Amino acid sequence: MIMRAIITEPPRGGVRLSEVQMELSGGVVVKTYQTGICGTDKEIVEGKLKFARPEEGNSLILGHESVGVVSDPRGYTGFREGDIVIPMVRRPGGCRMCKLGRQDYCEDGDFVEAGIRGKNGFMREEFSDDPRFLVKVNDRSILDIAVLTEPLKNAIKMKEIFQFLRLRNPWYCDDSTLTCKNLYVFGTGTEGMLISAVFKSMGINVIAVNRHPLKENVMSYFESNGIDYLDTSSESLDKRVRDQPMNAAIDAVGAMDVLKEITDNISNNGIAIMFGTNGQLPSSLYTILENVVDRNVAIVGSVDGSKEHYAEAIRFIETQGKKMRLEKLITGKHLPEDLKVFTEKEEGEIKKVIVWS
Ligand SMILES: [Zn+2]
Repeated sequence: MIMRAIITEPPRGGVRLSEVQMELSGGVVVKTYQTGICGTDKEIVEGKLKFARPEEGNSLILGHESVGVVSDPRGYTGFREGDIVIPMVRRPGGCRMCKLGRQDYCEDGDFVEAGIRGKNGFMREEFSDDPRFLVKVNDRSILDIAVLTEPLKNAIKMKEIFQFLRLRNPWYCDDSTLTCKNLYVFGTGTEGMLISAVFKSMGINVIAVNRHPLKENVMSYFESNGIDYLDTSSESLDKRVRDQPMNAAIDAVGAMDVLKEITDNISNNGIAIMFGTNGQLPSSLYTILENVVDRNVAIVGSVDGSKEHYAEAIRFIETQGKKMRLEKLITGKHLPEDLKVFTEKEEGEIKKVIVWS
């Protein structure tokens, strides 16, 4: 059938609304209800998203944030005409994580993303889709906000990561809650606002940070949700952090200087999650963030160890030491008076040991 669709030509970009001939072959037929626009779409259009690519030929139908209504379930169980569905963006490739349904942790990059790379998106009147990648909305009353599902799922994943990281140590407050902890969320766009809401609902104190004065509607969203905010053009981050320590931080901006602001200010045992990548960064810096964010890389600080770590170290040496030839690490045994061990390095030296008795 012929329908209207919003088309771009990656990686060059550009955007146009066109009549396109689309086959609705196979899968559940869905009438698009809404599609959201986000920074990624803009970057594709501006030709700044390096990995954007068409499904075939030269053009790509944009749109990855979407909600639709089933118009023909085509006999797939669990779907009826009128069902509200959210199509997933990323579709699995062949790696192990993809086969496990965790294409968000794809190991080899062999996935496609609707409206972004290698798969047409949802900015069109209708599409047909594999029912495995359609997530049903049960409560019809959320139809008009369900388009937020896609950006919100990013915040939900961040919550999962955060929950893992905070279990490293008894990070919670003395009353077992998180109410004494401050999370700084950098960026007050849609993603920053959703992240702020998700974490506020966990009981942590959230401070949304922006470099410009906030618009009235954004400010009132934060105020009504009990979310603090900081405009760094009128109050410095350092000053706020002195009053409200930065126990955790999430970046939804994707600029390198935010990473520096976070590492400069975050508390001991802090948790930082990087989410955004801004295609407008100089490429030398962009790749740092891109490599961390798009590849789910966990970077974590670590110092010292506990008594249990000592005990485990002993057990390891006891059970593995000979097998793993750990004795090879010791390349010299010296008397205490042999002080040149402190200044000279021998060929092949690994570990010199001072023998005292
Ligand atoms: Zn994969």
